[in-house]
Amino acid sequence: MLDIEEFRKAGYQAIDRICDYYYSLEKLPVVSQVQPGYLRKALPGKCSIPVSHIEVDQKNADSAPEQGEDFQDIQDDYQKLILPGVTHWQHPSFFAFFPTACTFEGVIADLYISSAPNPGFNWACSPAATELEAVVMDWAAKMFGLQNNFLNSSGVGGGVIQTTASDSALVAVVAARSLYTRKHPEIKQEDLVFYTTTQTHSLGVKAGLVLGVQCRALEVEAEDQFALRGSVLRQALEEDKERGKHPFMIIATVGTTSSGAVDRLGEIGEAVRDYPDVWIHVDAAWAGVTLACPEFREKAQLENINKYADSFCTNFHKWGLVNFDCSTLWVKDRRYLTDALDITPEFLRSKHGDAGTVVDYRNWHLALGRRFRSLKIWFVLRSYGIHGFQNYIRQGIELNEYFASLVRASPTFELVTEPSFALSVFRILHETPDSQADGSLSRDSLNELNRSFYAGLSSRPDILLTQTMINGTFCVRFAVGAARTTKKHIDEAWTIVQDEAAAAVKKWSKLQ
Ligand SMILES: *Cc1c(COP(=O)(O)O)cnc(C)c1O
Repeated sequence: MLDIEEFRKAGYQAIDRICDYYYSLEKLPVVSQVQPGYLRKALPGKCSIPVSHIEVDQKNADSAPEQGEDFQDIQDDYQKLILPGVTHWQHPSFFAFFPTACTFEGVIADLYISSAPNPGFNWACSPAATELEAVVMDWAAKMFGLQNNFLNSSGVGGGVIQTTASDSALVAVVAARSLYTRKHPEIKQEDLVFYTTTQTHSLGVKAGLVLGVQCRALEVEAEDQFALRGSVLRQALEEDKERGKHPFMIIATVGTTSSGAVDRLGEIGEAVRDYPDVWIHVDAAWAGVTLACPEFREKAQLENINKYADSFCTNFHKWGLVNFDCSTLWVKDRRYLTDALDITPEFLRSKHGDAGTVVDYRNWHLALGRRFRSLKIWFVLRSYGIHGFQNYIRQGIELNEYFASLVRASPTFELVTEPSFALSVFRILHETPDSQADGSLSRDSLNELNRSFYAGLSSRPDILLTQTMINGTFCVRFAVGAARTTKKHIDEAWTIVQDEAAAAVKKWSKLQ
């Protein structure tokens, strides 16, 4: 057990080692090279030979030690046994999934938070936690250009930090359903339906699953860049009404996971005009942070978010510089959350509580306890300033535009969709043996070639990209945004991508 002075020493060492980690980051393999089950075999890590050669010591690995161990050993085992099993999402050649924010400001905030932990479920638990959250959520709302209703200081709507975008969406669906069934108590739960698209993140389907409510995924088209159109939604609303169903919500996306598609919020808003009880939730988990830059607000549809969205979510913990976890959710009317989730009996409600003088955030989400996440936003936004935050977003988008320009100029590849913010979706375009006389290429053969290309890419330790399938087309995603990525890393990635493509094409030609 560490006492205060031992903690001081171990803490200094931990910070030193974290700094060394960042100095060495670029030289590490992006993807962890361990095999499944490596850790159980390697624990408790009493030996200094590389992990793959450690002998199995089943007896020791199966239970916690009887006697406490020296903390230096434990701290050394982190380096020896854990780090090799870590995939480095902060590596400058990490282009998979989406960026994962990690700033030293965030690390230090997490350290302070865990040094005085508390469950923060109401104001009195730790007044600073609630009050800082209310303040920084307003800072963020203003930085993104959200209208006044979304501000905590408006006393009407407000912002709350959730664990993830999936939690934010679940909370929004709970609120929307509760609002709808309060207005229409005669309607049965099995007749309710809410909408997503085929490109919406799994959070929509999951919310339907958890709540036992039907979730209907609407079709989107390549010619619309996979965005949901108002006409499609309108048709679904009419069909469901005829079938005796009751639509109560649409989850729209700004920046889908697969291709960065942006649903047409203006058209969606118009389509639900005749259905005033339909709640619009905008999931912008990845791309929402681009709203910090005025030049991206049109593409991210700020005006329509302000006009039509009942709730809006973006994750600071992706591209927004705040270490995981930190998902931010704003609602235009906080009563819809508290009416659905307030576990305070009526006689305990107070004028101040209802007016928002004292916010009890436990009534704005599913759990009772909550982490003091706002400290991370506070540290980051103060240290970077809005300008620093904007520059960071712009840098990611510029680097992606550079990558997209290389793809465009190459005869080997095509962009499957227009680059979206800091994401490019591309594939090899190559004649296949079953190409048609009119020059059209077989989709299945091309998919096969691209799968082989991606298999080559994903077997490399020095880079990571992810695959996706969009309406039957297999493609590769290139997502920029790690803090240390520079033009040099894009150039290196481009060389690797070309090499792997050439190898895949060569293999392909031999097989035919
Ligand atoms: C990443 C992502 C999600 C899921 O985020 P979690 O916070 O992990 O739940 C949802 N929607 C979009 C558009 C995303 O990019």
